[in-house]
Amino acid sequence: LTFLGIESSCDDTAAAIVTDGGEILASVVAGQTQLHADFGGVVPEIAARAHAEKLDLCVEEALAEAGLGLADLDGIAVTAGPGLIGGVLAGVMLAKGLAAGTGLPLVGVNHLAGHALTPRLTDAVAYPYLMLLVSGGHCQFLRVDGPDEFTRIGGTIDDAPGEAFDKVAKLLGLPQPGGPVVEAEAAKGDAKRFSLPRPLLDRPGCDLSFSGLKTAVLRLRDDLVKAQGGLHAQDRADICAAFQRAVAEVLAEKSRRALEAHPVKTFAVAGGVAANTELRRALETVASRAGAEFLAPPLRLCTDNGAMIAWAGLEAFKAGQRDGMDLAARPRWPLDKHAAPMLGAGK
Ligand code: ATP
Ligand code: FE
Repeated sequence: LTFLGIESSCDDTAAAIVTDGGEILASVVAGQTQLHADFGGVVPEIAARAHAEKLDLCVEEALAEAGLGLADLDGIAVTAGPGLIGGVLAGVMLAKGLAAGTGLPLVGVNHLAGHALTPRLTDAVAYPYLMLLVSGGHCQFLRVDGPDEFTRIGGTIDDAPGEAFDKVAKLLGLPQPGGPVVEAEAAKGDAKRFSLPRPLLDRPGCDLSFSGLKTAVLRLRDDLVKAQGGLHAQDRADICAAFQRAVAEVLAEKSRRALEAHPVKTFAVAGGVAANTELRRALETVASRAGAEFLAPPLRLCTDNGAMIAWAGLEAFKAGQRDGMDLAARPRWPLDKHAAPMLGAGK
């Protein structure tokens, strides 16, 4: 089976062609970082317009790259939420149009399921497994028992870690996206010079919080500026190192607890923040101590892409899911059907 996957829920327009054997025949991602750069964040209106402009080009490019026509496909998968509604709508409308025009089956995919099922695309991981999703907008532990069986074990009660990296970069006058820049600064710094809090570490369970950490960085910066009249390059590096250490330590400890409560064979991580080397090392250590295999898909499949949507669509299709022209675009769509409403857990 060969599926087209369409993704447009945030600031990446993406299309990919994937087989149920896990072969990625094409994957096209058009980012919008440049478009939003002047605004210090993603502007929904601009994002929606850019998606509408680029979506069909991405699909055409993916088909060309795979050397296939629409007639060679077996289905169309599209992100139907959660995300910025204008972008999601643009993708869903295109997918409906393509499905109506070709008669191909249509499958609406939860964006988070796309991230959470990626280890099955890249490494054919068997159910059940544990997934830590850490990105710009999300932070949650999921136990994955099937293509539509997710249990949320814990997650952030405020900001996502990627968001915190971005805000810390902003506080220190560093460019966006903050993650890679803070990581590069941290490599030059001393993580022990400043002590930052470890939010929620004293509380049982797997919930996390990052907004207090961000506030602590703000206070630290202001104190230094007041005392010295400004920030030295070394101060910046040391703050970044302390911040990164704090994030890695709390995520590692909560992962340890998640694995203790759910002793599965595989612990996988996904999302843009999974690119962070210190975090990866800390998680790897936790997994190996728990006797679990640690998996981090390649970065291009960790951040938003169409391949994970095509794959999640294939899994749902094989489980019997078919959507019609009434497929809705949903701004909010918790993965865990049994969960209590999430406490402000990001977008
Ligand atoms: P979502 O997928 O939840 O809708 P998103 O699209 O913003 O959100 P991703 O593209 O998965 O998220 O990841 C982007 C985030 O990852 C940014 O916040 C960025 O700062 C962070 N990030 C990228 N590289 C690193 C790194 N090396 N260290 C820490 N954070 C990083
Ligand atoms: Fe995402």
